[in-house]
Amino acid sequence: MDEFAEIEALCRELIQAGYEYYVLDKPTMSDYEYDHKLRRLEDLEAAHPEAVTPDSPTQRIGGQALESFTQVTHQVPLESLQDVFDFQELEAFDQRVKGAVPNAEYVVEPKVDGLSVALEYLDGIFVRGATRGDGRVGEDVTENLRTVRSIPLKIPDAPSRLIVRGEVYMPKKVFHTLNEERERRGEALFANPRNAAAGSLRQLDPKVAAARKLDIAVFNIQWTEGSDFSTHVETLKYLRDKGFKVIPHNSCSQISEVTEGIQEIGEHRERFPFDIDGAVIKVNDLSQRTTLGSTAKFPRWAAAYKYPPEVKPSQVVDIVIQVGRTGVLTPKAVLSPVRLAGTTVTNATLHNQDFITEKDIRIGDTVLVRKAGEIIPEVLSVVMDKRPEGTQPYFLPQTCPVCGAPVEREEDGAHTRCTGAECPAQLLRNLAHFASRDAMDIDGLGIAVVENLVKAGLVKTPGDLYFLNEDDVAQLERMGKKSAQNLMTALEKSKEQDLSRLIFAFGIRQVGQKAGKILAARFHTLDALQNASLEELTAVDDIGEITAQSILDWMSSPQSRHLIDRLREAGVNMAAAEQGSDQRFAGMTFVLTGALEKFTRDEAGEMIESRGGKSSGSVSKKTTYVVAGEAAGSKLRKAQELGIPVLSEDEFLELLK
Ligand code: AMP
Repeated sequence: MDEFAEIEALCRELIQAGYEYYVLDKPTMSDYEYDHKLRRLEDLEAAHPEAVTPDSPTQRIGGQALESFTQVTHQVPLESLQDVFDFQELEAFDQRVKGAVPNAEYVVEPKVDGLSVALEYLDGIFVRGATRGDGRVGEDVTENLRTVRSIPLKIPDAPSRLIVRGEVYMPKKVFHTLNEERERRGEALFANPRNAAAGSLRQLDPKVAAARKLDIAVFNIQWTEGSDFSTHVETLKYLRDKGFKVIPHNSCSQISEVTEGIQEIGEHRERFPFDIDGAVIKVNDLSQRTTLGSTAKFPRWAAAYKYPPEVKPSQVVDIVIQVGRTGVLTPKAVLSPVRLAGTTVTNATLHNQDFITEKDIRIGDTVLVRKAGEIIPEVLSVVMDKRPEGTQPYFLPQTCPVCGAPVEREEDGAHTRCTGAECPAQLLRNLAHFASRDAMDIDGLGIAVVENLVKAGLVKTPGDLYFLNEDDVAQLERMGKKSAQNLMTALEKSKEQDLSRLIFAFGIRQVGQKAGKILAARFHTLDALQNASLEELTAVDDIGEITAQSILDWMSSPQSRHLIDRLREAGVNMAAAEQGSDQRFAGMTFVLTGALEKFTRDEAGEMIESRGGKSSGSVSKKTTYVVAGEAAGSKLRKAQELGIPVLSEDEFLELLK
């Protein structure tokens, strides 16, 4: 076979396999074979760029990033829907419809909680996709939609122009995996699949959108040339035949069937791969739709039924405590199983002590639990007349259920936290913090490696890092000899870090990078800091009472002592670097502002502090100098108002000479 014929054959085979996988959900080709063939196609296309067709599977991968989205005026507006909130309102809707078209029949569909888009095909080729925007004008997100594998890039025997409408969503499974990954990387979580889909569809870089694995359910023909349909169901069948993934739908001849259909969707909502925020009822006959017409906002021939949040009683069988990665204790009610909004609920968070106290929730109580769709179930209240005899008010434990260390209630919040420096529940986070750039700066000890170390049981406390064996490390997933060697070198190097970094690396509450520096400068050795009294600590500039107490508590806990002993045994430096002899900035305070070009803020801070000065974030009467770069704003103005000398970057460097 010549290479052109091979390109054509591979394209055909991969498009078919993609259709079976993404649209029909019935894979026929293994991922391995698919990837292998796709790679071959990429290579061949690279050698023959003239043979690349617009529907080639290689065209989905995500092209160049955009500067911004352009606007698209929809030829047919993407209308909104009128809401109905109960079966009475539904009945009234039916009456209105029947008033104009007495023999109306309906179709019921799930209302997909995603984002509406319009897809435009010219002579069967997907040329443009746009978001709904305000319904009249949306944004051109063609490149991102091209990465949605269930959107056909080419359709067979197509009219010269076709515009279809559908709802783009992030499958629930993809959403959960994405959020798990984000949590591991310490990134902000998406609140729900809809937000995640919206964020993904509006990515300027289509490669990011491609990685988000969006999907679509198509539910309407907005515009077509040449085809003649009489019902909605016919159009959906036509779209299915053209290779689209079509919304699940049910035809109903009576309104009673409509209510059944709505109930059925509500009860089985967990079966859909997408979240729903209701059900949509539409008149099936297209000429009847024309008769009914639209108001300024929505069609008169359709309505969105919104499910009420369900509330049911359940019993609190137990209250268990989970300790999160940040050490926060979260009480959770174990509930007797109850069906709510399509899922079986067996537990609900009780948030914190205040929540429990306010509602007086006790083990054995009957409580009312509410859940709306994908929203997390919540305990609304206690049914007091059902309270069994002999129950006791519930209080969070005084010690951490994971490691046994005392817990403390945050001064300024509702959280209760474990104070254990070696608590296994917090280990991942503590290790990642310990190794981070501003702390011990251990190169190559990112979160993935930390996870592997912990999983393999090689590290149980940050102290264990320094007792790792190179061969063990090399055995870890995705590690190998070279990376293991590098990690050992980085660990060895980190033993020499300054005391200020070690203090920060402990992760003592209230003690950040700045406090680490202040404490190291004042106490010089970890020993001295361990022995410092509350008075000595509070006497230090910038160390308040809460911070001082937090340091004292941390230093006196057995787990912390064990950690310090382990580090000492490993030979980790526990002293502050000798003060430089050059203390020319002693007693001076600098404020850096604007865009600095000759050095970074961190570098300048280092230059100031190593010479005995302080760098601060805000200008006051106590400021000695303001160092201002390009486009300095309010701080510069404040300095001028207060008559504080302002230095350019060059003038600052002069001072150092
Ligand atoms: P609303 O924005 O609440 O007025 O609801 C209308 C939106 O529901 C439309 O913009 C569509 O994006 C969305 N929708 C989801 N599923 C469907 C469906 N099966 N039929 C029509 N619209 C749907």
